[in-house]
Amino acid sequence: MRSPAGSLRASDIGRTVTVSGWVQRRRDHGGIAFIDVRDASGVIQVVADPAEHEEVTDLKMEYCISVTGVIRARPEGTENPDLPTGGVEMGVEELAVLSSADTLPFMIDDRVEIDERTRLRYRYLDLRRPRMGANLRARSRATAAIRRTLDEQGFLEVETPTLVNSTPEGARDMLVPSRLRKGEFYALPQSPQLFKQLLMVAGVERYFQIARCYRDEDFRADRQLEFTQLDLEGSFWDRDDVLDTIESVLVAVTKELRGIDVTRPFPRLTWQESMERFGTDKPDLRFGAEIIELSDLFGESGFGVFRDTLAGGGTIRGINVGQQEWSRSRADSLTERAKELGAKGLVWMIVEEDESLRSPVAKFLDDKELTGIRDALDAKPGDVLLIAADRWKLAVEVLGTLRNDLLRPSAHQDLAFLWVIDFPLFEEEEDGTITFSHHPFTSPASLDDMRDNPTGAISKAYDAVLNGVELGSGSVRIHDPDVQRQVFDILGIEPATAERRFGWFLEALRYGTPPHAGFAFGIDRLVMVLQGETSIREVIPFPKTQSGVDPMTGAPTWVEETQLEELGVTLTESALARRELPDDPGE
Ligand code: ASP
Repeated sequence: MRSPAGSLRASDIGRTVTVSGWVQRRRDHGGIAFIDVRDASGVIQVVADPAEHEEVTDLKMEYCISVTGVIRARPEGTENPDLPTGGVEMGVEELAVLSSADTLPFMIDDRVEIDERTRLRYRYLDLRRPRMGANLRARSRATAAIRRTLDEQGFLEVETPTLVNSTPEGARDMLVPSRLRKGEFYALPQSPQLFKQLLMVAGVERYFQIARCYRDEDFRADRQLEFTQLDLEGSFWDRDDVLDTIESVLVAVTKELRGIDVTRPFPRLTWQESMERFGTDKPDLRFGAEIIELSDLFGESGFGVFRDTLAGGGTIRGINVGQQEWSRSRADSLTERAKELGAKGLVWMIVEEDESLRSPVAKFLDDKELTGIRDALDAKPGDVLLIAADRWKLAVEVLGTLRNDLLRPSAHQDLAFLWVIDFPLFEEEEDGTITFSHHPFTSPASLDDMRDNPTGAISKAYDAVLNGVELGSGSVRIHDPDVQRQVFDILGIEPATAERRFGWFLEALRYGTPPHAGFAFGIDRLVMVLQGETSIREVIPFPKTQSGVDPMTGAPTWVEETQLEELGVTLTESALARRELPDDPGE
């Protein structure tokens, strides 16, 4: 019987065991070889005399071996308290090489920095590294905890198809051409949204699925073309039933991965409050520095910029970002950043020892204004104050971004969960068109408000946020086909288009649909934060690069002409021209 290497302890002393794994490290001292053998459970030190076991002479890094020998205590003074197996070592009776290994492209060691492309090119080796192994295990424990928690609450795990019609979550669809019906396409699901709603029509009442979702988006730091969600839906539910259930899941996963009990209920902020205080709909509550309204101070200001902003319907907001290393170039780069974010500029002030405010604009402000700023921002000597004067949304967003840039902890030691509720139902694009803010199946909070003033209407949508990371979203759904039609109408979706795209779904709503609500959160993101990682690629077993390429398999790749013919697909000139170019490895 094989023993897990990492399980061996003093209580095993005297036992003869067999361990199989990889040569993690080998040192030779005084004619004796010390070989660290690693398997999925951990590492054990094997001590061999090459004179007795000549196979040992050839052992190199990452050879896959099997060793049988007796467990004994390490000689006094050579114990390794950092290793769970550090009190014991293993002698050798038999040693067999199961597989040799070529020289590796990098060491299997967490301390070695390797560029990400190389890691992804050799992901199977990268995953041998302890940190990545721990992330894989954490992910598996997370999904097990999710299943356990929902099973106890009577949820049914139901699979939904991967080859579907378009699901409108606001991203571009990934399309799959049909061979049997040339010219027609399946879409990969952006989420199981409509299927889970149909499961409510089907009487399932409590559904969940660990679902792969596909969104053809331009890559941002925490996005991938495919990702995994816990998708969930319940009938006869209102918002608080969803929040309660999702909290129970998030608490269970946190307990599993971090061993701590998160306090429930999580704090809740309305979207409006979140924007006002933190300038974002995914605030990081691990630190303060809230945004403060200062407009009242400047109605009559001698400072034209402030006065004109207010006269033009804008607002003046400030934030105290505390002690910062300060220099002219720092000030310039923050101002530059604010401009990149769309602001006209940024006012900064430093609180001097005598509590006066040093700032390029101080000379335009009178004592009352300066004292007002100091009091409102609770300023102490050494603090840096930032002030934005702009349209409300821009002003709070700029300060919210700077708040994160300057104060956000880089690691995820503490955990701050929260709900953001009462999102707007719609968003107005710059060209005046109206789009949904969550998805078009989200219930308005009030039908009258929606009809009277669509862009001011609140929805029954909510988000879960952890440490400034949006974990996921959900909503109470529309279960009345007439209301659904009205929403399509506001969204400018013609009845004929609605019928063509969603007719099958609208029809289902007509057969006695229960009120229902649900949620989905990104398992990648949750595990990322709980594992203290800052990129989801660290917790996805086989992710793609930022440009959607898999450096290991080379996907996406060109296919044979005959395959395209079978699918009825021809490549455009520009695609063919790309084919002639040297292979672009992508980032
Ligand atoms: N389908 C939504 C999403 O993927 C979640 C939901 O509304 O349940 O974001």
